[in-house]
Amino acid sequence: MRVHGGIKVRRRVYESEIAQANARDMLMEDFGDLCGYCGKNRRFFREHFHVDHFVPQSVDGERVRDYSNFVWACPKCNLVKSNQWPTGDRAVSHRGGVGFVDPASEEFDRHLFRDEAGYIQGRTALGEQMCRLLNFHLRRTELFWKVEQLCRQMEQLRQKRQKQPLEREELEFYMDLDTMLDRILDELLDGRE
Ligand SMILES: [Zn+2]
Repeated sequence: MRVHGGIKVRRRVYESEIAQANARDMLMEDFGDLCGYCGKNRRFFREHFHVDHFVPQSVDGERVRDYSNFVWACPKCNLVKSNQWPTGDRAVSHRGGVGFVDPASEEFDRHLFRDEAGYIQGRTALGEQMCRLLNFHLRRTELFWKVEQLCRQMEQLRQKRQKQPLEREELEFYMDLDTMLDRILDELLDGRE
């Protein structure tokens, strides 16, 4: 499975300079509202996502307002990635299995994937190294993925319920899931990630 599930993350071509704050709506759309790195869905987790600079500002000060250098990212990925840029060369994102792959590129899926349990794993040495740089081995990437699947099921049931009464079993499931999801989301977001 892909890290971003069924959603393809691709940046539009935007050539003018743009401030991070003004790029939020476009990024939200281009990234399907998913964190580019861990695939977390902002809508379900009600987090305030950040605009990450793929090549950090400290490495390339000229791309601070360059849309093609922006990544829609959850707070955790943005903070963990921070100023890390292993190649040290602003023009080279990775070399010899070390560095980062742009999440909005086709190349991303060649190095990282999501296993059946929902964990993000490396497919290549570079992918594995990215998992370490982003602390995926220490994070509950599978838990967020599973909760997201439940949120989707819940959404479907909610929509169905608006059109027709649910069967008794469906209604019981809906009520249980609703209560459980509220608790899980509260706990997940309380401790942050
Ligand atoms: Zn993330």
